[in-house]
This record gives sequence, C-alpha cells and structure tokens, in this order.
Amino acid sequence: MNYAENVLDLIGSTPLVKLNSVARDVAPTVLVKLEYLNPGGSIKDRIALKMIEEAEAEGKLAPGGTVVEPTSGNTGVGLAMVAQQKGYRSVFITPDKVGQEKRDVLKAYGAEVVVTKTSVAPDSPDSYYGVANRLEADIDGAYQPNQFFNPAAPQSHYESTGPEIWNDTDGAITHLVVGAGTGGTVTGTGRYLKEVSADRESGPVRVVVADPDGSIYSGGEGRPYFVEGVGEDMWPGNYDPAVPDEIHAVNDAESFAMTRRLAAEEGLLVGGSSGMAVVAGLRAAQDLGPDDIMVIILPDSGRGYLGKIFSDSWMDTQGFTVEHAETPVPDTLG
Ligand code: PMP
Repeated sequence: MNYAENVLDLIGSTPLVKLNSVARDVAPTVLVKLEYLNPGGSIKDRIALKMIEEAEAEGKLAPGGTVVEPTSGNTGVGLAMVAQQKGYRSVFITPDKVGQEKRDVLKAYGAEVVVTKTSVAPDSPDSYYGVANRLEADIDGAYQPNQFFNPAAPQSHYESTGPEIWNDTDGAITHLVVGAGTGGTVTGTGRYLKEVSADRESGPVRVVVADPDGSIYSGGEGRPYFVEGVGEDMWPGNYDPAVPDEIHAVNDAESFAMTRRLAAEEGLLVGGSSGMAVVAGLRAAQDLGPDDIMVIILPDSGRGYLGKIFSDSWMDTQGFTVEHAETPVPDTLG
C-alpha cells in the first residue's frame, strides 16, 4: 500500500513542469516548480514544519505549547496545519485590512485569530507586531517562529527545495528564478544550488530574484504594490544579499497579465507572485541559449486570488488591462 502516515509527510517533493506556450519565444528550457501542490497550498508549508521542528528540538516548544505568529497568509496556513497535527494551540494576529476569508481558512484548521487595527503605528503595542509580542509574553508556553528572522526558514529550503531541484534536473539547472518576500526561499534554495554547482565545468547556478516594482530589493523605497507575498519595505534577516546574481523589478500589470496567461495557456492556476517570477525569468531568458535550463519557483495557488487577479471587474477597477477572449458564435446559431 502506498500512503502517507499523516499530512505533514506530504510536504515537499513538488514536481517540475515545462512551460510551453508562454516560453515559446525564448531559447532555454523553462521549468516551473509547483509549490501549490504542498498540502497547505503553498511553499510556506516547508518553513512551517522546519521552524516547529527546530523549536521542539531546542526546547522552545513543548506539549501544551502555543504557536503565536503575526501572519494571515500562507505561513499562517502552514503553521496552523503543523500545529494542529502536532497537538499545539495556534494563535494568529492579522490586521483588519485582511479579508474575512483568509481568517476563516486559519479558523478552519482550528487556529484562533486576533484582529488588530491597521491604522495604528507599527511601534505601538496595539499594532500587529506589538500584539503578537504581548501574546507571546502572556501565554504560558508560547513560541513565536518569526519567519523574517528564523534561520530554520532558509534552512528548510537549503535541505529540501534546493536538493529537489538539483536532483530533478540531474544537476543541469543553470538559472534559478525566485521572488523574495522574507527572503527565505532565495537564501536557502539559492545558497544550496550555488554550493552544489560551484565546481561544475559550466559554472555555478545563477540566481535571479524577481521583485515587485517599488520594493527595496530592486532599489525601491517600499512604495505600495498589489502583488502579494513578495517585496519588502525593510530588510529581513533571512534575505542574504550575497545570493542573488541579478534582480529584476516587475510591475503589477505585467505580473497579473502573466498570472492570467499561466492559467489560460499552461493550465496553471497560480498566484500573482508566480506570474511576477515568470515575467522576470522570461526577461532573463532573452539573453540565454538553448542549453540553458531555468527553474522558476511558483509559490502558491491562484485560488486565493479569484476575487482579485482573476476577477475582470476588480482588474478593471484597479486600472489593469484585461484581454477578453472572444468566443466565436457558430453560424448555425445565427
Ligand atoms: N510568494 C508568496 C505568495 C508568498 O506568500 C511568499 C512568502 N512571503 C513568497 C512568494 C516569498 O517567499 P519568501 O518569504 O521565502 O521570500
């Protein structure tokens, strides 16, 4: 019989698939890694498991303990799933701008959700981070993973995402393309792939970072943008600037147009940071040849963005152009 002992055993070992339609005008083989096939629906399952395992090993989390983290996104889902399976209580802090649906997902996993006002200053005790710190101090046995600074996050990618890509390409990958939010993915995956390929005749793997236009990684000032989960307005501890070889800024319109094309042409319903990474990858691929093998990481599913990127009316309201496919009316119908 072939089955997993529990859902946590299904984290990682995600597949690569070739891009055909959207990559038809570039020479390299362009492969994408489908992180939405993790059981919690995103790449963040990997860091959630590793951060909790490390905390257990270091004695920071013990039976009866509580996981506390300020997050409403993919990391929250991963942590809620891991905490539940390991028997811990979990409490997430989300700003009130976050939609009800995202809070309901966390509650579905059995998590508790505390809502804070977006309008307070970040250093106020009533802010998103302030409340998380207070809950960690007040709840007996509480542990805050802190995905922006916890070294277990990049380590999870160093131990899983990187080796999976190396093995699945038989060591032939030449370029890794990844979006950076906390920086954990690029730091861990990129560092592993560069190390393992360092002495290769064809040279080490080159790491390409995709960044939303306006974010600090690509030289912006933290100006707002719509694409979610990537870019920063402050430097997180888990971003190692020595790992990327090139950084491409991609604007929201380009990211969202590509996200919709991935669904419409490749059968890949993925999120906006995936579209952004593919735009950066195809841009970098313009200068490459047919022997190059590029792997682009697609972090999450498009299901979480149906009311935004995949909604024609939301796109129109925000001023993004939508290409409407015309369905021809057969003659017989007049
Ligand atoms: N895309 C999405 C949708 C994400 O949620 C995240 C995580 N913030 C990323 C990309 C970037 O990953 P990382 O935090 O490891 O840089």
